[in-house]
Amino acid sequence: MTQMITVLGATGSIGKNTLDVVARHPDKYQLFALTANTQVDNMLQLCITHRPQYAVMADDKSAQQLAKKILAHGAGVEVLSGIDALCQVASAPQVDQVMAAIVGAAGLLPTLAAARAGKRVLLANKEALVMSGQLFMQAIKDNDATLLPIDSEHNAIFQSLPAHFKDDVNARQQVRNILLTASGGPFRGWDLCQLHDVTPAQAVKHPNWSMGQKISVDSASLMNKGLELIEACWLFEVQAKQIDILVHPESIIHSMVQYVDGSVLAQMGNPDMRTPIAYGLAWPQRIDSGVASLDFLSHSQLNFEAPDHSVFPALNLSRQAFEAGGTAAAILNAANEVAVAAFLREQISFTAITDLIDGALNHCQFAAADSIEVILAADASARRFVEEKITA
Ligand code: NAD
Ligand code: MG
Repeated sequence: MTQMITVLGATGSIGKNTLDVVARHPDKYQLFALTANTQVDNMLQLCITHRPQYAVMADDKSAQQLAKKILAHGAGVEVLSGIDALCQVASAPQVDQVMAAIVGAAGLLPTLAAARAGKRVLLANKEALVMSGQLFMQAIKDNDATLLPIDSEHNAIFQSLPAHFKDDVNARQQVRNILLTASGGPFRGWDLCQLHDVTPAQAVKHPNWSMGQKISVDSASLMNKGLELIEACWLFEVQAKQIDILVHPESIIHSMVQYVDGSVLAQMGNPDMRTPIAYGLAWPQRIDSGVASLDFLSHSQLNFEAPDHSVFPALNLSRQAFEAGGTAAAILNAANEVAVAAFLREQISFTAITDLIDGALNHCQFAAADSIEVILAADASARRFVEEKITA
């Protein structure tokens, strides 16, 4: 039986890697819908190559342009637009699996729609979970959905934890801690003075991974690791203190689990997102992802160091936000999104990103994150606060 797939964020880095893996297995997967924001020509090419049933553009004008071009090409793909259509293709009865790969808070509603419809959700969009952890995990449980982590670290932890870790007390007692690895990004080893003047071009140049702009900046500030810490707490139902962050510059080990007997299980591989994507698509089976075998002889040294909290405050801010609970993490995430966008427009310095997040956490009031309305209101208040600070 072929599995029907919707790819949210198909024109992005994760989206394209997903389509690469899917195209290797036409006997197993069929595309129901591809979605994007405004990248019309990019989407047209994907529609011609992959022939989904639907193409959804979040932006209405882009949808109109795409519809015209699809008609001219005779590609036979139905074009829809707007947030409701994104949610519809994430929850349609024909769909088995949803790759959640929209970047940022924009992905929350469609990803949640997939969870509420009981789909198998392949989660790359970590911001959705960071914003709405409790609500999202409850939606997965209440609707018998399956949640599989695509973020490489969380995929590694998922592979290294004992089976049934979450529901089995014995399994939980076997685990001493989780080692969440971080590459350290392009500014590993730099001091605060050096960081102040870095440019967007320097920040998006990740040493090991090729990714979208926002996550690349997050990796450079270590906010990506902060978001991942929160993501791991929700995914695996652990406390923040059970997770240690370990800088491992080569990104060959993707994360580890340490057991009470002293054993450490690591998942390794070349830094290529097609590995966790293929794992998510095929679980509990495994399929070819197109990723080359790991050549240990060309990686004869694996290094490890502690993160530098005095230069990279993002990790502690994230820990604090998670521990504060409620809407604090939604505020952290929204402040980061606005600040990163301003940094990419060269409106603020690199170090101002975490200053603005700190400011938002101090200024915006936290509430219990028990409804989507409350979460979206917290998100909006943090955005307003940071935007005002930037334009002041
Ligand atoms: P990207 O910027 O390359 O792609 C983002 C996708 O989201 C695009 O298809 C874009 O059209 C869509 N999008 C953007 N704004 C939108 C909006 N307002 N409404 C609807 N769609 C919108 O990003 P990416 O690097 O592929 O990352 C996607 C997600 O996966 C992020 O949450 C990121 O943290 C996570 N992730 C990425 C990687 C990676 O290697 N790239 C690794 C782990 C996790
Ligand atoms: Mg990651």
